[in-house]
Amino acid sequence: MTVLDRLEARNCPVCGAGPEHATRFLEASFDPARLTAASFASRKGPEFMSYRLLRCSGCSTVYAAAAPPAALLAHAYAEADYDSSEEASLAADTYAAALAPIIAALPQRGRALEIGTGTGALLERLLGAGFGEAVGIEPSRAAIAAAAPAVRGLIREGVFVEADFAPASLDLICCFQTLEHVADPRALVLSCARLLRPGGALALVTHDYAAPINRLLGRRSPIIDIEHLQLFCRPSLDRLLRDASLPPQKTVVLVNRYPLRYWLRLAPLPSTLRRALTGLLRLTRHDRARMGLNVGNVMAVGRKPA
Ligand SMILES: [Zn+2]
Repeated sequence: MTVLDRLEARNCPVCGAGPEHATRFLEASFDPARLTAASFASRKGPEFMSYRLLRCSGCSTVYAAAAPPAALLAHAYAEADYDSSEEASLAADTYAAALAPIIAALPQRGRALEIGTGTGALLERLLGAGFGEAVGIEPSRAAIAAAAPAVRGLIREGVFVEADFAPASLDLICCFQTLEHVADPRALVLSCARLLRPGGALALVTHDYAAPINRLLGRRSPIIDIEHLQLFCRPSLDRLLRDASLPPQKTVVLVNRYPLRYWLRLAPLPSTLRRALTGLLRLTRHDRARMGLNVGNVMAVGRKPA
């Protein structure tokens, strides 16, 4: 039995509207036989598998019309492989730079939380930015095992549970490349709003399905993925923050810097061409060269009124 055997129908996970208030975005394309331990891992190659996706007419969120029960998904993530420490560190540099002005505007730098922290690379940057304490939550045991010894002790294994934190005790909450994966993003953001201190900020990084690169690639885009239960765009992120009484600040388009061989792994190419190009990069010693690209990732920030 796989995680895809028992799907449950769902409403829009941002505004709650039913499927009768949505239009078809993409037909389902998945094969349980092709699921592997890497299917729920971070930064894997594309598999082009997807649930049936609807686009909500009310809030513009794209969402899976039916999805696995949350408990089964939590199990899949606990068992997921992890093989991207270097990319995680490069992503953390991108995020830290985008967060700098948000952190500078906080009333204090007491405690920060990252939901879906992976190897905890961002926790190091947050401590470096002056936070007294940084905590990460991560379901994948393999990711925690790959964490640097200095931050491993800051990571709690499991999924985010609001009751594990005191209300109004956090100054910054980050949820990066994770919101697409959770069963109930609206509940998560409402929880974050209660945990933030007045003046504190919630920062979300997601793919933007309406970004030019994703519109161009269509169903060949890496965002069309069996891990993604929903896809956001700027209006749906704004809606999510506003509904939690976290007035949205300026949305930032991120430019990610990764080695060329990693971009090639994500590119929607036939596998023979991908292998040939990867070999060519290695031969010409360009495989570790880094390139910055706007691949349609956005950072949206909501601030709790002081
Ligand atoms: Zn909606």
